[in-house]
Formats: sequence, structure tokens, C-alpha cells
Amino acid sequence: MVTDAPIPWKAIHARFAAVLGAKRLLRRREDLLAYDCDGLTLHRCAPKLAVLPRSTAEVVTTVKLCAQLGLPFVARGSGTGLSGGAIPSEEAVLIITSRMRRILDIDLDNQTILVEPGVINNWVTRAVAGEGFYYAPDPSSQTVCSVGGNIAENSGGVHCLKYGVTSNHVLELEVVLPDGTLTRFGGHVAEMPGLDLRGLFIGSEGTLGIATAIRLRLLRQPETVRVLLADFAAMEDAGDGVCRITAAGILPAGMEIMDNFTLNATEDLLQTGVYNRSAVAALLVELDGHAAEVEAACQQAKDLLMAAGAQNLQWAKSPEECERLWKGRKAAFAAMGRLSPSYYVQDGVVPRSTLPQVLKAIADISHRYDLPIANVFHAGDGNLHPLILYDHHEPAIIQRVEQAGADILRLCVEMGGSITGEHGIGADKRNAMALMFSAMDLDTMTRVRQAIDPQQRANPNKLFPTPTGCAEASRRSLRVPVDVY
Ligand SMILES: Cc1cc2nc3c(=O)[nH]c(=O)nc-3n(C[C@H](O)[C@H](O)[C@H](O)COP(=O)(O)OP(=O)(O)OC[C@H]3O[C@@H](n4cnc5c(N)ncnc54)[C@H](O)[C@@H]3O)c2cc1C
Repeated sequence: MVTDAPIPWKAIHARFAAVLGAKRLLRRREDLLAYDCDGLTLHRCAPKLAVLPRSTAEVVTTVKLCAQLGLPFVARGSGTGLSGGAIPSEEAVLIITSRMRRILDIDLDNQTILVEPGVINNWVTRAVAGEGFYYAPDPSSQTVCSVGGNIAENSGGVHCLKYGVTSNHVLELEVVLPDGTLTRFGGHVAEMPGLDLRGLFIGSEGTLGIATAIRLRLLRQPETVRVLLADFAAMEDAGDGVCRITAAGILPAGMEIMDNFTLNATEDLLQTGVYNRSAVAALLVELDGHAAEVEAACQQAKDLLMAAGAQNLQWAKSPEECERLWKGRKAAFAAMGRLSPSYYVQDGVVPRSTLPQVLKAIADISHRYDLPIANVFHAGDGNLHPLILYDHHEPAIIQRVEQAGADILRLCVEMGGSITGEHGIGADKRNAMALMFSAMDLDTMTRVRQAIDPQQRANPNKLFPTPTGCAEASRRSLRVPVDVY
């Protein structure tokens, strides 16, 4: 385990300044406070030192110095993570990749692009859109989150229903291991022999080292895109619409649902006029591909949605019309910021056929804890994002919010799902890992990590449960019987 730094921080600052130069460092408390949390503001801890490297060589130097001094380190991209993954601990050096933002190579013949980790997700598409290509994984935070963060979290997005998550689009990684060794995982082609270390690194949340260059797959832009917006008087009907579409063999690029609370919040913010404010649920379906195929699927999807009980149906053909229908969904999290000083986003997954039942159970949790909960979710793959609204000024509120969040996670596991779909475990859910994994599973994961990082200096206290936390989570899960829901 990591021990306290053996030398005072003043001396540590001096050592880093001597090797990297003062311009690469943040040392003053007022500068460091800006990095005391990520998108999950529930947990905070300011680092004592942050390094802003400009190159792989500088990351190697930084990590080697951490190893020499026995210091843990935490990688940080844009800090939009929602599980507290990039929050430093007091004794860790924060390594921020936001100055590593170069696109290193574009190879359109082989449909790949090589980028530094601080490159922002939608810059990748921007760099190749003129040639008819794009990068498929599109988290809603894509205008600000970094590719390095996407790799670490194995991020998803609206289009992951059809195109898969980040791991399906990464060919090769250049990685600085926790002892400062520079290595490569994967290669120029998708299938490589040997152990899949590329796959191991993706989704490891910064616990196996720092990615310093990433080769991504590019896709050809689809010939045609259509978006359908259907509204429903009952959540069961919207869920039925989703099931009918998939049962008919249609694979939309994305299928998203907003509940009444969320669609009204987005309308208040944007005044798009496209959402029916009295609807219980709004379902967005995007279809893409060859023109004739999309037209046929679109007609079939319309019929299926009407049969499921859609009250109103709108469809968009031009890119501008499609954007207009999507606009509210994309701004859903931002809209919550106007309703409440703080919110806590959960990220559970359930089998999609259970969505109406699970949403009813979440409404019960909302009443039980007297906390408003808005729901917006990737309906096609059952990935829920309940947003628990609260005012952090209220005394003792945090404990109530965390308990409501924990109940939602337990519910997801009990329904046969998972405690995270795309936001990762981080600091936030590490004790909930025991809800899904046995002690032996967790021990196996820890051994794999220790093979690469024996002292567990890369992003300590994330992803893996603490021994007591683990037991607590298990005990709590036993106290909540399934029939409560
Ligand atoms: C409004 C909003 C909407 C969002 N929507 C989505 C969504 O639709 N889908 C989704 O999946 N997520 C979503 N997120 C969560 C978040 O944007 C993603 O997890 C994103 O991938 C984080 O990227 P980042 O650069 O901000 O990473 P950070 O928050 O800086 O870091 C996240 C984790 O990655 C590690 N890390 C960062 N860079 C590296 C690196 N180079 N090498 C190794 N480890 C590294 C960190 O240590 C940390 O554990 C959303 C967040 C917000 C605020």
C-alpha cells in the first residue's frame, strides 16, 4: 500500500521544478483548488502538486520522479468524470493532460487517427468530417471531455447502441506504466495475438498508468440520418415502443428517453417547442445507414411506436431538424443545474424490458428519501441516469443523497443489471463493487493490477473497494430485499 510522502512537500516541489521547470507545475493552493473535484462535486480533495506535461517524455519524467519519491499519482483529462475518478488524494501528484492536445497522424486509407490524450472527443470528428469520416463514441460531454478520459472510463454515448463503446474504437495505446516504463498495447490492426492488454487498459480508470497516445478507428459518415420523436402518456408505453423496435430487428443508432420532469426542465432552458410538456415520456430514435434502408426502417418504426401508444410523432430529415429534436436531450444535465444547486447522477444498467418497473421503483426511492429524481436514459441498452437533485447547503443532506443513490444501484443489480454503464466506479462506487463481485473476483482483479503496479501508486483508492467498505456494502445489500421495489 502507499505510504505517506517521506519528504516534505516544499522539497518535493523543488525536485519537480528542478527536473521539469516551474512552468509545468501548479503549486499554489489557490491554483490547486480548481482541481479538487471532477464532475461529481460530492467528493473533494485538493492536490498539493499538479503537473501539466506537454509531451510523452515529460509524462515519463514525472511518473519516474513519483516512483523515485514513492509518491502516488492521479491522471486527469478534462475533469468531467462523474464518479470521482480524477479526484486526487492529499498525498498524490495530479498529472493533467490538457496541454497534450495534438493530433499526431491521420491515416484515412486505413481509417485511423493518432491523438494525444488531452484531445477533446469531438475534435476527432471535426478533424476528419470534411473527408466524410467521424469518430463514433459520443458522450454527451463530447465538447469538453478528453480522449484520455474516454479511454480510462471506456465511455459510451448516444450512438453506442449500434456502434459500441470506446473499447470498440481503439486500436493502439502508448502507455506510461506506474514505474515510468513507456510501452504500447494493441497495434495498427484490430486483432493482435497474445493477451489483450489494450482491452485491459481501457476502462481501468487510471489505475494501470497514463495513456499518452491513442490510435482510434474512424467510420464513414452514414449516407442518411433520420430522427423520430414520440411522446407517450405512460412510461410503460415508451418502454414497449423500445422493445417493439428491437424485437422487429431494427437497430437504431440511438434510443433515448426523457421523463416528464426532464423534458420540462430542458424546455424551460431552451424553449425549443418540440417536446410535449404534458407527456410522461419522450422517446428519441435515431436511424442511420443507406437511404432506402433508413426510409423503410423509419416507416416501420413509426408504425411500431403508434402501436405502442405514441400520442404524437415527429420526424426529422435534415441535419438541422435532427439537431432540433436532439437539442433538449443533449442539454438535459445542464437543465438540471437551473432547478437545483447540486445534483448527483447515477449510472446503473438494467435489462431494457424492466425499465418501466425500475422507473417506478426509482419514484418510490424519491418519495422515501424526499428527494426529487429526474430520469434521462439510454433506453436501447437499459443505461439509466437518474439525477438526484439536492441543495448542498442543507444540513445532513449528503448522507440522504448517497443512500438514495446506493438504493438505486442495489435495485439495478437485483434486476440483473450493473452499477455502472459508462461513468465508471472511481471513488464514488468502489464500495458498491461488492454488490456485483465476490471477494475472489475482486482479489483476482487486484492481483492483475499489482502485476503492473505492485505498490498501487497509480490512482490509489479508486475502482477497488476498501476491505471495510466492501463488507459494509455487502451487509447493506442484504438488508434490502428485492420485494421492497
Ligand atoms: C454533462 C456530462 C455529460 C456526460 N455524458 C456522458 C456520456 O454520455 N457518456 C459517458 O460515458 N460519460 C459521460 N460523462 C462523463 C465523462 O464526461 C466521461 O467519463 C469522460 O470520459 C471523462 O473524460 P475526462 O477527460 O473529463 O476525464 P477525467 O474526469 O479527467 O478523468 C476520468 C478518469 O480517467 C482517468 N484518466 C484521464 N486521463 C487519463 C489518461 N490519459 N490515462 C489514464 N487515465 C486517465 C482519470 O484518472 C480518471 O480516473 C458526462 C459528464 C458530464 C459532466
